Amino acid sequence: MTGGKPLLAMVVPCYNEEETLPAAAQQLLDKLTGLIAADAVSPESMVLFVDDGSTDATWDLIEKRARENPRRFAGVKLSKNRGHQNALLCGLLSIKDSVDAAISLDADLQDDIDVIDEMINQYRAGREIVYGVRSDRTKDSFFKKATAQGFYRFMRFLGADIVYNHADFRLMGKAALRALAEYGEVNLFLRGIVPLLGYKTGSVYYGRKERFAGTSKYPPRKMLKFALEGITSFSVRPIRFIAALGLGMFAASLAMTAYAAAQYFRGNTVSGWSSVICSLWCVGGLILLSLGVVGEYVGKIYLEAKHRPRFNIEKTLFEGGGARPAGKPPAGPHQGGGAAFVNQEGQL
Ligand code: UDP
Ligand code: MG
Repeated sequence: MTGGKPLLAMVVPCYNEEETLPAAAQQLLDKLTGLIAADAVSPESMVLFVDDGSTDATWDLIEKRARENPRRFAGVKLSKNRGHQNALLCGLLSIKDSVDAAISLDADLQDDIDVIDEMINQYRAGREIVYGVRSDRTKDSFFKKATAQGFYRFMRFLGADIVYNHADFRLMGKAALRALAEYGEVNLFLRGIVPLLGYKTGSVYYGRKERFAGTSKYPPRKMLKFALEGITSFSVRPIRFIAALGLGMFAASLAMTAYAAAQYFRGNTVSGWSSVICSLWCVGGLILLSLGVVGEYVGKIYLEAKHRPRFNIEKTLFEGGGARPAGKPPAGPHQGGGAAFVNQEGQL
């Protein structure tokens, strides 16, 4: 173990979760109490619920708990439904400066909260990010399993670095949270951003359970939108594909021109056929090729417009030297602390 007891926040986005919230809050409280008793986390640790513009009694239930037990429960309410990713980001950013580590998890507790102990062990041993990875999907429907696995494979094929079978159940230390805050993108796909942060990472494995109450807030329509979000936010390969197609078609048009010319001279054509065929292929190929070229620039603009940080610092050794960053990193038990400070001060 290298680090002290972290002040932990469990961040739970909730959208119309009145059926799951009471039991989930109780289970999370029990978990937290156990962790505190075992000296694994600081006694200040807490659960933060983010109400993602629910239209049922979710917020009332959160408020009641925060009022009765303000030491353990806190809440944030979004003014309207902005989707799971935004709600989660809101929760993580609201506590990034006041905690040492945050664990994000769903309100339906499909993710096994018993692996949290192992996540904390890994964090205390120096891992800044610990991914919760599903070791089996036996409880998922065939449809969900097939689409989800196809999606992970496709994302990998497109060159996005995402962790296979990891959803948003993960622990992030303060340095990682602060680094995440530097990503200003509006189209949010956290699973793609977190691996970009770098830092030392670890994984814990668990079997995903069934939702114990209520219904999924991710119908196929939302899932598809989310998948498209992931693909278009992290890859410009679809644009490259158009350019390649254009190039192929243009090359084919040259062959078609030769073929049409040969047919023309052999007298096998009706009048006008050769010129129509040639221009059809040639123009089609040129249009696709030009689209690809324009797309390449649009892709560049898209990536630039995200204003992603170009790097995140993990450690600095400025002590005793002339050149130093604008401030002195605060002393912290965890190795990521100093780095986060530099990172927040500016990108050096
Ligand atoms: N959620 C949210 N906003 C939404 C949809 C979902 O905050 O617009 C929350 C939801 O309350 C839950 C988590 O995101 O805590 C995951 O949703 P769900 O369990 O319905 O998704 P599934 O597990 O079926 O993919
Ligand atoms: Mg769920």
